Amino acid sequence: MNHKLTYHIWTIGCQMNVADSERLGAALESLGCEHVAEMESADVIVLNSCVVRQGAEDKAAGRLSSLKPLKQAHPEKIVALMGCMVGPNSQELERRFPHTDCFMRPQEFGALLRLVEARAGTCLDSSLPLAPNRPGVTTFVPISHGCDKFCTFCIIPYRRGRDRSRPLDELVREVELLAKRGVKEVTLLGQNVDSYGHDLAGRPDLADLLTAVDGVAGIKRVRFLTSHPNDMSKRIIEATARLPKVCEFINLPVQAGDDDVLAAMHRGYTREQYLALVGRIRAAMPGVGLTTDIIVGFPGETREQFQSTVDLVREVRFDKVHAAMYSTRPGTIAHRTLADDVEAAEKKRRHTVLEETQAEIALASNQRMVGTTEEVLMEDERDGRWQGRTRSNKLVYVRGGERRHGEMVQVKIAAATPWSLQGEAVERQIAALTMAG
Ligand code: SF4
Repeated sequence: MNHKLTYHIWTIGCQMNVADSERLGAALESLGCEHVAEMESADVIVLNSCVVRQGAEDKAAGRLSSLKPLKQAHPEKIVALMGCMVGPNSQELERRFPHTDCFMRPQEFGALLRLVEARAGTCLDSSLPLAPNRPGVTTFVPISHGCDKFCTFCIIPYRRGRDRSRPLDELVREVELLAKRGVKEVTLLGQNVDSYGHDLAGRPDLADLLTAVDGVAGIKRVRFLTSHPNDMSKRIIEATARLPKVCEFINLPVQAGDDDVLAAMHRGYTREQYLALVGRIRAAMPGVGLTTDIIVGFPGETREQFQSTVDLVREVRFDKVHAAMYSTRPGTIAHRTLADDVEAAEKKRRHTVLEETQAEIALASNQRMVGTTEEVLMEDERDGRWQGRTRSNKLVYVRGGERRHGEMVQVKIAAATPWSLQGEAVERQIAALTMAG
């Protein structure tokens, strides 16, 4: 009897990579491979890499180098590097890591699958969509990859390549399969989801995809990440507001609140245009959960320009801000053309100011929810506490009760912190009243 091949996928980076690893794992399992927790004992070892920060790239490179003695001792093992470290040309990587059998760009698993097929003596049924075999209540579905925006601080377009969309019917079939496997909430993922479909025949857009996914039986919620302010159309806003399963939640990176900094970043919009967009979104969805990404200490950013960003945060009153200190990234336009001239201590100070400002805003906004009743999807139980999210993506801890994964519960909010809400399931209170009566 043939030895059953085992596999291990090591992943670093964003949700796109997590989703890619899950889909690759499903493909390997379809070929008869079995997952093992220990990397060194696997027959097929895959490292899924990230390059957004130099530290993440160094970590993946270090891991791959450390596999060299193992590969030399066991040449039959298959070692693969996947993800954003693999650009259009892998010659340099082949020179640096000659013990690696294949290099795969994000979502391009073919080279590895052909090697495993040859070893396992079986073939993948390419008519079936690739979806994780044991997904959770919520899962990510990559709908596009790459990006055409070329923001000056970002390496993604050079590594992930140009923005390419996956066909709409393929995505719907994948979501249908996920629903059959118990998934209740899907998050449609892309570096710029709002540009979805621009490269497909018939030019469907994100609104069309949301409409199609909203119709999948068994799916209770649909989200999408990440939006670009320039591509968030009226149609997308209307679809998000209108479709019952599509949650009122938008991550809309602003990156900076000053026009000169935005121009130096090549973001393609002004502060005023961004604020007008927020106004249109809030007019269509008054209770929308709005989050953003901000970089502090971008080359040349003055204290006054940073203050404009803080003012914008106060004006918009985001639900969450993902703040990052600028770090120069070789290969980007900013690295080539702009001096990283904001002192590290000043970057840290700006980061702290932004985080403190946001914590104050988030606490006030969460406190306003105390006493309201929210629909919460139960995702997980940790330390005896159930946790889930509201439609606007707020984390809620739910006290007590026999809950089930994937259950939708009405929760009365009793307490708030800047980062989460706490409450009690309403039907438990009703049950308690009935018993008392
Ligand atoms: S929109 Fe800008 S920051 Fe986002 S992935 Fe594209 S280039 Fe990078």
